[in-house]
Amino acid sequence: MDLDRHDFELDELMERIRTNDNRLIALQVPEGLKMQALEMMDTIETETSAKVVLAADPCYGACDLVHDKMQLMGVELVAHMGHSQMNIDSGMPTQFINVTYDGDPELSPVLPWLNQHRKMAQQRMTQQEEADGFSEEEAQERFMDAVGRMAPLNDTKLGLVGSIQHLHLLPEFHDRLEKAGFDVTIPIGGARLSFPGQVLGCNYSGDDPSIGHYLFLGSGDFHPIGLVLHTGKPLAMLDPYTGDAEEMSLERIERILRQRFGLIMSVQDAQTFGILIGEKPGQMRRTLALRMKRMLAKHGKKGYLLALEHVGPELIDFYPVDAFVNTACPRIAIDDAVRYRKPLITPFELEVALGEKKWELGYQFDEIP
Ligand code: SF4
Repeated sequence: MDLDRHDFELDELMERIRTNDNRLIALQVPEGLKMQALEMMDTIETETSAKVVLAADPCYGACDLVHDKMQLMGVELVAHMGHSQMNIDSGMPTQFINVTYDGDPELSPVLPWLNQHRKMAQQRMTQQEEADGFSEEEAQERFMDAVGRMAPLNDTKLGLVGSIQHLHLLPEFHDRLEKAGFDVTIPIGGARLSFPGQVLGCNYSGDDPSIGHYLFLGSGDFHPIGLVLHTGKPLAMLDPYTGDAEEMSLERIERILRQRFGLIMSVQDAQTFGILIGEKPGQMRRTLALRMKRMLAKHGKKGYLLALEHVGPELIDFYPVDAFVNTACPRIAIDDAVRYRKPLITPFELEVALGEKKWELGYQFDEIP
C-alpha cells in the first residue's frame, strides 16, 4: 500500500483536542495502518498537549469502537481511523478520521465486464420466475445457484459502490460511466452506512430492484463476495491501487453456497449448539441470539449463549456442543468456517436447517441492519 498517497486528515482531530484541552486520547487504527500508528502518535503529541494511547487490539470496523476499558484508563476521546460512523453509541466521545486514497483508475479496463453484466441483467429481467412449485431437490439446487437466484428486478441500472477510502471518486465515476452509456445509480443504504455508495462487509442495504449489476471501486474481494452473496447480481471490480479490473465470478460464489449447503446439512441432527454473541458494540445482536435459543428449544434442541469480544477456533472449539451459530460479525461464519472443527453457521442457515425457512427462497446473507 502506498501510504504517501493516503490522506489521514489529522487536523480536525488535533483542533478538537486543543479546544477540549484533552489530556489522554486513544487512537484506534485498522490493521493495514498499524505500522504508521507510532508516527501519527508522535504528530498528535507534538502538536497538542494530549498523550496518546494506541488501542492495539485488532480492529476491522467501526463496529469495534473501543469503549469501557479505555474509559477505565482515563481516556477522554477516541480517535477512530479509516472507518465511518455507524448507528451505535459506544458511550465514549469519538472522532472519526477519514482516510482517502488519491488513485484515480482508468475506466476502460472494466468496460468489457460492465457491458457483459448489463446484458446478463437484461436477460434476467425477462426470465424472472416465481419461487413456488419446486421439488425439495429443485429447491436445494436453487439455493446454491448464484446465477438463477436473485431478488426481483424492475430495471438493469449499474449500481456504483466503493469502500470508504475511494468513495470520493464516485461522483466523477458516475459521470464518466453515464458518458460511456450506462444508466448509473449510487445506492443510498440504511443507518449503518454514512455515505452514498458505501458498502460494509455486513451491510449492503443500498441494494434495490432497479439495480441489475454492480461496479465496486476498491481492492480485495471481501466486500464483493458479500455483495454478490447478498444480491446474486453480477459485479465488476476496479482497483484504484493497481488500475486492474476483474469480476467476482459467480462460480466462486456458488462454491461458497455449496459450502454453506454442506454446513446446513451437517447440523440437521445436531442436538446442542453454542450461540455466539459478539461483545463489540456494533456486533452485539442479543435479541437475535435469544431468538435462536428459543427456536432451538422449540425444536427440542439446546442452545448455550456464549459472549465473546473476539471469536476464534481456539476460543470455542473445545466446548462440548455439536455446532455453533454465530450472531457476531457475519463474516466470521462465512469467510472463516474452514478454520473451525465444528460447523459454524449463520442464524439464517440455522433457520433453514430447522425447516423454518425454505430452500427455494435462495440464500439470505446475514446482514446487520
Ligand atoms: S461486523 Fe464485521 S463486516 Fe461488519 S463492520 Fe464489523 S468487522 Fe466489518
